[in-house]
Amino acid sequence: MIDTHCHVHFRAYKDDMDAVIKRTLQKGVRMITIGTQSTTSKNGIEVARQYDGVYTTIGLHPNHTCEQHFEDEQEEIHTRCESFDPAYYRELAKDPKVVAIGECGLDYYRIPAEVDRETLIGKQKEELRKQIALADELNLPVVIHCRGAHTDQVAMLKEFVDTGRLTRRGVIHCFTGTLQEARAYHAIGFLTSFTGIITFPPRRGDLSPPFQGGVGGGYSALQKVVRDCPLEMMMLETDAPYLTPEPHRGERNEPWMVQFVAEKIAQLKEITTDEVDRVTTQNAEKLFGI
Ligand SMILES: [Zn+2]
Ligand SMILES: [Zn+2]
Repeated sequence: MIDTHCHVHFRAYKDDMDAVIKRTLQKGVRMITIGTQSTTSKNGIEVARQYDGVYTTIGLHPNHTCEQHFEDEQEEIHTRCESFDPAYYRELAKDPKVVAIGECGLDYYRIPAEVDRETLIGKQKEELRKQIALADELNLPVVIHCRGAHTDQVAMLKEFVDTGRLTRRGVIHCFTGTLQEARAYHAIGFLTSFTGIITFPPRRGDLSPPFQGGVGGGYSALQKVVRDCPLEMMMLETDAPYLTPEPHRGERNEPWMVQFVAEKIAQLKEITTDEVDRVTTQNAEKLFGI
């Protein structure tokens, strides 16, 4: 099994990162630890180099394109304002442990009230465009973070794909959109990956109608999307330390917990966890060349 998106080199693991990684590898789970800005992109490489079965990515997260302060899963996050410097990242990309550019993308959900929305969206698009261009130049896939911006995100990716660029394509990580949005990405060759969010019970107002074919209601809209997405277009991830899956809600997330995401997909699709593991692992190996 592969946790295709975690942040095991982040501060949340500063006291026991080595133990967490070893615990995960011992359970037969490889992992891709994701960079989000210049420092974490560099540090991810140093960590990945130390372990077989740990890979990394380099990029600038849209939340780091402006300075802001927010709380995420009880963790206080303070972001710096950065710009994507292709020369800096081109140098980092020379390391064989770097398997993709990202996470990068568009996040219209987390825009601070004091910032001009249109200006920031313009900056996010500009930073993203530079990163996709570098991925294309280096023949790497992209790891996309997209929140509340699927229409613009699909349009930009399509622009590259339609002109014969970005041949390695990429993944929309932590997908929480609609089935229609998922299909728009699949149609241009992009995968969608799912986190522990799919294990959360539905919230009020989030109930989907009963599935066709015998499965009853009581599922979240996202769980229904998972059921209807082809396994061939899916990957597994934790986004650890965030988004801890059931039955570990309330604890710090760790990459080995990706097994609960696999189990949930198996349950929703009425197939075995082995089948989910086999196909999603193949998808990840193919996309990232690992
Ligand atoms: Zn993300
Ligand atoms: Zn992430």
